[in-house]
Amino acid sequence: MSDSSKATIERQAAAALANLQALAENDPAVYSALRGEEQRERDGIELIPSENYTFPEVLAVLGSVFTNKYSEGYPGRRYYGGQTYTDAIENLARDRAKALFGCDHANVQPLSGSAMNQAVYLGLLEPGDTIMAMDLSHGGHLTHGAPVSHMGQLFNFVRYITDPSDGSVDFDQVRADALRTKPKLMLCGYTSYPRDIDYAAFKAIADEVGAITMTDASHFGGLVAGKAMKNPFDFGFDIMTTTTHKSLRGPRGGMILCRKPFAKTIDKSVFPGLQGGPHMNAVAGIAVTLEKAQTAEFRDYAAQVLANAQALAQGLMAAGVKLVTGGTDNHMIVVDTMLSFGLDGRTAEEALDQVQITTNKQIIPDDPNPPLRPSGIRIGTPAATARGMKEPEMTQLAGWMIRCLQTPEDEAVLNAVKAEVETLCQSFPVPGI
Ligand SMILES: *Cc1c(COP(=O)(O)O)cnc(C)c1O
Repeated sequence: MSDSSKATIERQAAAALANLQALAENDPAVYSALRGEEQRERDGIELIPSENYTFPEVLAVLGSVFTNKYSEGYPGRRYYGGQTYTDAIENLARDRAKALFGCDHANVQPLSGSAMNQAVYLGLLEPGDTIMAMDLSHGGHLTHGAPVSHMGQLFNFVRYITDPSDGSVDFDQVRADALRTKPKLMLCGYTSYPRDIDYAAFKAIADEVGAITMTDASHFGGLVAGKAMKNPFDFGFDIMTTTTHKSLRGPRGGMILCRKPFAKTIDKSVFPGLQGGPHMNAVAGIAVTLEKAQTAEFRDYAAQVLANAQALAQGLMAAGVKLVTGGTDNHMIVVDTMLSFGLDGRTAEEALDQVQITTNKQIIPDDPNPPLRPSGIRIGTPAATARGMKEPEMTQLAGWMIRCLQTPEDEAVLNAVKAEVETLCQSFPVPGI
């Protein structure tokens, strides 16, 4: 690093310190919540599969002057002046996304995963059109047409289900339903499903009925980037969406990747169709993330996320814990807590919260219980792996979880496990904190 850039960084560090001091002085309530969250993330084990610790470089650009800038439009065609650096950042992000995922076009402006999916549906379809997607209790996301979501009200969603014993999809049934309902869009992807997708089978059916093929890789975009999971573009898929803050470890946001014939429609749908100004601090964070995601270190990370999920699943199953589909092929595990421990998911989540292991209650396929008191929990390894935890720690974690869930009322057990969790966390610092 040159002397002048060292001096610049020192000036910036002094500014960052002054900014924090101003926050602590002028808004102690927000400052103390910030410190509390930091401590929570440091002293507990994050097992929610959609969460992660972002890269320190991403934290640096998120709290930067890019948040000040309006950049409606796209690089070279903006509605405001002063775009030298925002154009550079967005071009970097788009080019890196195309190279990493091997696709023709990338839109990095969606403000979240939900907005990115809305932009695809609203841009490519007419209200009332049919979309085929995974059943919600079998793992589909809210944005895949939940009745409470606007998209569920605007489009006609037809469902496919999985066999909960092994996670398999009955493609004869999918084909028959597709031939009958003529979907315009066939959507794969999930928010709570521990297996991979048979892209070739979906693509063959979509081709037969003339449907657009889309994967919502929100959960596993980072694992595709890290070459640990299959890439839908290798199977001729038209569109892939992904959040940028889950397995990819970037800032909160969404990306739409697509083949060339869809590029113009997708861009118009994001802006001016759905959104105004993009969050350029997040776009800068996406650019940084994508540079990280093409390194050998990130490929090691992605492989370790899967290896850790295997170790955690084995540790649980060896003690007789029942997992939905009987295991995992990805970063995620769905535990049937009702069958395994006689506990609903909410009680299990709360017991684990007490020992600072964070999970989320989860409906399981055809769950007889309501979403706020479902029959399971969902866990995953991206965040723990980002701290450097490996298979031995996963085996330990499985043991601790079992002890808590077997005796969720026993304060002595909970306190003992909590102390062990805190000790382990001290050996695995959180990146960027
Ligand atoms: C997380 C997720 C989303 C939505 O992302 P948000 O940023 O929370 O809006 C969409 N689809 C799937 C499959 C997801 O898992």
